[in-house]
Amino acid sequence: MEKITLNTLPQDIVNQIAAGEVVERPASVVKELVDNSIDANSTKIQIKIENGGIDLIEVSDNGVGIPQESLDRVFMPHTTSKISSLEDLNTLLTMGFRGEALSTIQSVANVNLISKYIDSDVAGEIVFKSINDFSIKKAARETGTVVSVKNIFGNIPARKKFLKTAQTEYKKILDVLYPYFLIYPNIHFTVVKDSKTVIDLKEIKDSKENTVVKERVDEILKEDFVKRMLKVFYDGSGVKISGLIGHPSDHQKRSNHQYIFVNRRPIWDSGIVRAVLSGYERYIPHGERVPFLLLIDIRPDLIDVNVHPRKEEIRFLNPFRAYSAVEEAVKKALSTTMSYKLESEYKPSTTQTPSLVNTDFQGKRYKSKDISFKQTQSGSVRDSLLFSKEVLDDTSYIKNDSQQDDVNTSFRNIFQIFNKYIVIEFENETLWIVDQHAAAERITFEKLKDSKAIKSEQQNLLVPISIKFSEKEIVVLDELKGFFNDLGFEYLIQKEGIEILSTPVEFVGADFRKLFDEIFELSEDISYISKNIDRLREDILATISCHGSVRSGQSLHREEMIDIYKKLIKCENPYSCPHGRPAVWKLRLSDIDSNFERTY
Ligand code: ADP
Ligand code: MG
Repeated sequence: MEKITLNTLPQDIVNQIAAGEVVERPASVVKELVDNSIDANSTKIQIKIENGGIDLIEVSDNGVGIPQESLDRVFMPHTTSKISSLEDLNTLLTMGFRGEALSTIQSVANVNLISKYIDSDVAGEIVFKSINDFSIKKAARETGTVVSVKNIFGNIPARKKFLKTAQTEYKKILDVLYPYFLIYPNIHFTVVKDSKTVIDLKEIKDSKENTVVKERVDEILKEDFVKRMLKVFYDGSGVKISGLIGHPSDHQKRSNHQYIFVNRRPIWDSGIVRAVLSGYERYIPHGERVPFLLLIDIRPDLIDVNVHPRKEEIRFLNPFRAYSAVEEAVKKALSTTMSYKLESEYKPSTTQTPSLVNTDFQGKRYKSKDISFKQTQSGSVRDSLLFSKEVLDDTSYIKNDSQQDDVNTSFRNIFQIFNKYIVIEFENETLWIVDQHAAAERITFEKLKDSKAIKSEQQNLLVPISIKFSEKEIVVLDELKGFFNDLGFEYLIQKEGIEILSTPVEFVGADFRKLFDEIFELSEDISYISKNIDRLREDILATISCHGSVRSGQSLHREEMIDIYKKLIKCENPYSCPHGRPAVWKLRLSDIDSNFERTY
């Protein structure tokens, strides 16, 4: 057997090994250099890229600069001005802290740094060949720093081989830069690509770092959905959340515009993404995505930023706290914006007398909600939700003012087709096709959410219903007794199952075995349900609603149809069922006419 010798590696090899983790490609260099410029309080940062960063990456800033006497040290391993002890990591708010970026970059490329310190009269330039071979001389420069990195991996052919084309590397650089552009509206960024200025983002006046300003976001993403984005805000238990989330009507199969920042650090955390989507659960169809930019600020001691070589991930000490804060922030933003907009849209007409549909059984007026769908060619959820764009778009609201509020107009006809849809013809030349099951589900869902309403309509069963359940299920049902009781379901726990004594009126005759089975299916392990009842609450309500509702295939009396219509327009979110399917499809006479190519 060959003799094993243990070698202590020389520092330059150690650096190169570390570089493999920190510096993966030109984009990683850009990230580290921009981080440094930001840590130096710069308000102007220019990024120059040549040949996808393979030939040159140069980042210059107007930050505080580096004192002349420290210049020789910035490229030394583990040299940082940002922390001096382990405890400092717990209060860390700077982007860098390991003091390894410049030292690893210099080990894989040719670097040159010029800096003028804010309190110094002259600038200094350091040309770095290796730890033992560098030179420093005086130079001329305004306050701030410029770092040039040339010929990346020129000394490591094996790594250079793995770089992609210049265009791909450039795209990866942009991927790295976009998040900075988004949350530093206070910084003027320019990108010069192969000698051409390709991005020039002036600072937004009076804006602060670590905020998202629509103007800046719009400038960068150039997407239509930006103007419809909703603001989020949350502050509690050591977590602060702000940012923008997509309007529900802007859901899509995939979204490339999902950004998460934790204490200004762009990171990726699938738990956060899931939490955002749970916030949208009743607003968008299952499996769809939405664009969002979330800024999470959390006490530095509640996270560990030191878990990823390129700091692209972090660890939450209590992930659940962060996730539930995110979910709550999203829900709050959605519910307040949507209901505010719907209410503000209601304008009582002075000339019209309250019509049948605008009066409930007691004859009291209630606020009606316009459900107007712009596109009628397709029944997809996306199209149906387009109406809410209209609702949010004030100009279009004014434009449509003349034909506002169908519910102010009484209907001429209401009837059922295929035992599945309710068709309503309004006097203002509008037609609604209502999916009776989706509508009824939505109504029951919102009623269940308001437990007072449900309690008042609780009904005792003449003959209690006994249903058998497994031991594990009984344990869960026992734990959930209070929860169900609040919803109007009362049952006794028995040896082999439960005995249902009373239910909300809608559920008399429901298939309870199926209902509970579907609730159990909401969780992989049913014992998880009672532990997570707050999180699962809406899922459970949606599942229950499905069972207490008018089904598809059920024939309806005229009164039942009117009742569904009237209750639906009272709903906070009348346009889709709790699973996100559309409930109403609105057609204008003009849409029908144009389909027949009629011009009169
Ligand atoms: P870290 O950012 O983890 O401290 P770096 O290797 O990235 O480590 O940088 C080393 C040090 O060089 C920093 O701590 C900082 O003092 C200084 N430095 C680097 N870039 C800049 C810059 N653009 N402006 C001012 N100081 C800088
Ligand atoms: Mg750094």
